[in-house]
Amino acid sequence: MTSVKTGQDHVASLQDGRNVYIHGERVADVTAHKAFRNSVRSAAALYDFQSRPDKIDTMTFASPDTGRRVNRCWQLPGSYAELVDRRRALEAWAELHFGFMGRSPDHVASCIAGMFMGIELFEAHDGKRAAAVRDYYGFARDNDLFLTYVIINPQADRSKPAHQQADPHLAAAVIDEDAHGLTIRGAKMLATSGIMANEVFVTCIQPLVPGDEKQAVSFAIPMHAKGLQVLSRKSYEESAVSRFDNPLSSRFDENDAILYFDDVKVPWERVFVNQNIDMTLRQFHGTPAHVYQNYQCQIRLLVKMRFLAGIAHRIAEANGIAGFAQVRETLGQIAAEVGLVDGLLHGMEAKGSRAGAYYVPDRHLLYSAQTLTQQLYPKVITTIRDLAGGGLIMLPSSVADFDHPLLAGLIHKTQKSPAFAPEERVKFFKLAWDALGSEFASRHVQYEMFYAGASFVTRGHCYRTFDWAKCKGMVDGLMASYPTPGHPPGKTAAAE
Ligand SMILES: Cc1cc2nc3c(=O)[nH]c(=O)nc-3n(C[C@H](O)[C@H](O)[C@H](O)COP(=O)(O)OP(=O)(O)OC[C@H]3O[C@@H](n4cnc5c(N)ncnc54)[C@H](O)[C@@H]3O)c2cc1C
Repeated sequence: MTSVKTGQDHVASLQDGRNVYIHGERVADVTAHKAFRNSVRSAAALYDFQSRPDKIDTMTFASPDTGRRVNRCWQLPGSYAELVDRRRALEAWAELHFGFMGRSPDHVASCIAGMFMGIELFEAHDGKRAAAVRDYYGFARDNDLFLTYVIINPQADRSKPAHQQADPHLAAAVIDEDAHGLTIRGAKMLATSGIMANEVFVTCIQPLVPGDEKQAVSFAIPMHAKGLQVLSRKSYEESAVSRFDNPLSSRFDENDAILYFDDVKVPWERVFVNQNIDMTLRQFHGTPAHVYQNYQCQIRLLVKMRFLAGIAHRIAEANGIAGFAQVRETLGQIAAEVGLVDGLLHGMEAKGSRAGAYYVPDRHLLYSAQTLTQQLYPKVITTIRDLAGGGLIMLPSSVADFDHPLLAGLIHKTQKSPAFAPEERVKFFKLAWDALGSEFASRHVQYEMFYAGASFVTRGHCYRTFDWAKCKGMVDGLMASYPTPGHPPGKTAAAE
């Protein structure tokens, strides 16, 4: 083991015999396959960055158990200042992919770190399961693992609970339990980055009902576990024509996959919750896990929003419209929306509070950010597309057109801009399309709308965590300050 995890270490760790499938075939080596290799390189670049001598202090801390430098996503902040140090590391990672790798290694690490911060919940439930959580956190941290998670049952009939689906083994469930551990059969959606993660955390964040006990589990296993089948979606990386034509999708297509557990054995030391509906939900909400995992998302999103604002401004310059008052208004609106994300992020940090030994961002501001940003993202994308007009489409078919003398000449004649030379104009609008309109960009809209749950879920979190008593108290206080006809002074009709 090197003193700090490098890109090379990560690439080597993925050559482990995992069962990834695409185009009807099993992939022999994800690090070499044309559907995945560049994304793997982008993930590896994160580890190379943290191992740079000039970055190692910002990006890593010494494991309290081994002394090995590991990424700060595993750090457990005890104060506001430590939270901010940790955020700076996460932000620096997000800048390497411009916010386009939603499930970079800091996402699920933040969740597992949050579960560990709430270890008392597991202790009160079952000492052995608590030991599994504690040991797993230490193991994953000290090996600086890249984790993904699958915490949603596959869509089928959402009007019925998991155990009432036509196939009771559709959603991954316990089918056997013995002295060694559990056996799991069934599917989960939607392991983003699963093809290039080391391990997967498997559980259910959706509310379960009595009868769903077999689905009410929580565990972690390696991506190469026997019987684990990884069904990749279409690869946008593979469809990318070139880096010039698809500068984002050619490198940052983190992938999403359905996981099928074909009677996968999970040893007891990897089982965090066993067939307990209440604990399955409370592992997220009764510990800082849910807050920490989604706080990471807002750090990443802020970087992406800044990048999109940059795209918007450059579009205005490219088309000579930046001086129009209406266009400046539109850009001002986008700037305000980036400010909203920035403000909410800093607000949830500043308004954080202590949970035992740890400092945790403010839950309600986090849920406000989730709810608002899942609406904001598609709106910002549409606004920028509105600024761009047909320039996103008025482009040569591919970089190969530049090799043809006639076409190169015509490109030079027709791709005009007050801000860019013709070749640069093409380069820029190809980038803008990959961020705003390509299949990769469209998947990003779906991602930002759904990664934290559908809007009824995030609004429910906001509803639950808001201080309604304080707000209603103000209304009641004002009403109590003047008389109501027919009622004693000082009392509202509602309070009687
Ligand atoms: C690109 C992408 C990547 C993802 N990556 C991951 C990942 O890495 N790991 C992971 O675990 N999950 C992942 N997910 C899954 C994500 O968590 C879910 O999409 C999200 O929780 C919503 O669940 P769902 O897709 O089943 O939608 P549903 O719950 O089926 O909701 C879809 C729509 O149906 C309606 N609806 C459904 N149920 C109700 C209800 N009870 N009341 C009212 N309306 C309802 C709403 O209109 C809702 O918007 C990913 C999703 C996407 C799109």
